[in-house]
Amino acid sequence: MVSPLPLPDDSAPKTVLITFTGKDRPGVTSAIFSTLAPYGVEVVDIEQIVLRRRLVLGVLVTAPRDLTPLRDAVHQVADDLGMQVEVERGIGDNRSRREGRSHVTVLGMPLRSRAFAAIVGRIADTGANIDRIERMARYPVTAIDLHVSGTDPVALRAILAREAAHQQVDVAVQPAEIWRHGRRLIVMDVDSTLVQGEVIEMLAEEAGCLPEVARVTEAAMRGELDFEQSLRERVSLLAGLPATALDAVWERLLLSPGARTMVRTLKRLGYQFAIVSGGFTQLTDRLAEDLGIDFAAANELEIVDGHLTGRIIGDVVDRAGKAEALRRFAQEAGIPQAATIAIGDGANDLDMLSAAGLGIAFNAKPVVQQAADTTVNVPYLDTIIYLLGISREEVEAADAAAGIVTPAPPLG
Ligand SMILES: [Mg+2]
Repeated sequence: MVSPLPLPDDSAPKTVLITFTGKDRPGVTSAIFSTLAPYGVEVVDIEQIVLRRRLVLGVLVTAPRDLTPLRDAVHQVADDLGMQVEVERGIGDNRSRREGRSHVTVLGMPLRSRAFAAIVGRIADTGANIDRIERMARYPVTAIDLHVSGTDPVALRAILAREAAHQQVDVAVQPAEIWRHGRRLIVMDVDSTLVQGEVIEMLAEEAGCLPEVARVTEAAMRGELDFEQSLRERVSLLAGLPATALDAVWERLLLSPGARTMVRTLKRLGYQFAIVSGGFTQLTDRLAEDLGIDFAAANELEIVDGHLTGRIIGDVVDRAGKAEALRRFAQEAGIPQAATIAIGDGANDLDMLSAAGLGIAFNAKPVVQQAADTTVNVPYLDTIIYLLGISREEVEAADAAAGIVTPAPPLG
């Protein structure tokens, strides 16, 4: 339910909106405010943007008793600065933002104007306002954050998800709630999410049974097979493989691009991380240690006399087990479930994605994309940072302060 627009309040004070546009140079804002200073007006709001050295500065001030001298002075300073200016009388402050607020992040690689037009068109169709637009990153993706009000975020998400798929861009809709700024727990799937590829297939390569294992994996990821059954079946094909094959796979294992940047950046902000995997502790524990991950849950391969037995020790971490691990880790971390983020790509991540405050389908199977809050289809895990309202510029500045150069992943 969205509340109607508030009516202008007759008792509100008269105000003046002064809008400067022109070439940006040092001292512009200072010159403008020095001009306003002698008139004793109160500053109600200021917004400034600079695009490719062109500045737009809007200043909302209370109206002086006599507007003429202020207006003349403002035109004079604009002339001196070689800028254009508009002075408009009005009443009161900005209209307050309507209920039903969300952040809509549009990600494109590249972001084409046709796609952006379609997305903002669908937002307009709902009757919502776009209150503010801000760029979060230009590299490796173009990420634009829209502050939207006046429509239900859940309904908006469904509408924009369809349009995003059609336009082949990613659109994340998040309710503008306090958790976006809060200390969070990020729970990640491992295979094809935190790392590239599927560990069980790499083990199968070592064992020489890849085609057999891959067939079962694909059916499981499509949701056609019960995960536990399929896992036990695949692991049984590995019976007899020397445990040293696990070291060989560890050496070949590649993180998804941007994984280290995401973890490093968000750990600086006090985020905690968990990995929850249908894969194997023999590799996920090493990953957790390498990346400084706080919690990990996975399946343990049984090893006897230096060889895999083809069995798993204890209960299998399956689709339900992944969601259960998310709840358990949130509790242990002292973080409300609403402040958790889950990232995954497969059918066995579905429960975990829906249990999280924000579920992100990362380069996911279609069935997962349809169910998740948000889809990210660019191959960079650090894109998640931009969805949280942190800009690439801030990431690079924090790295520079720590003496690190932010890695630049190669473009697709
Ligand atoms: Mg996966």
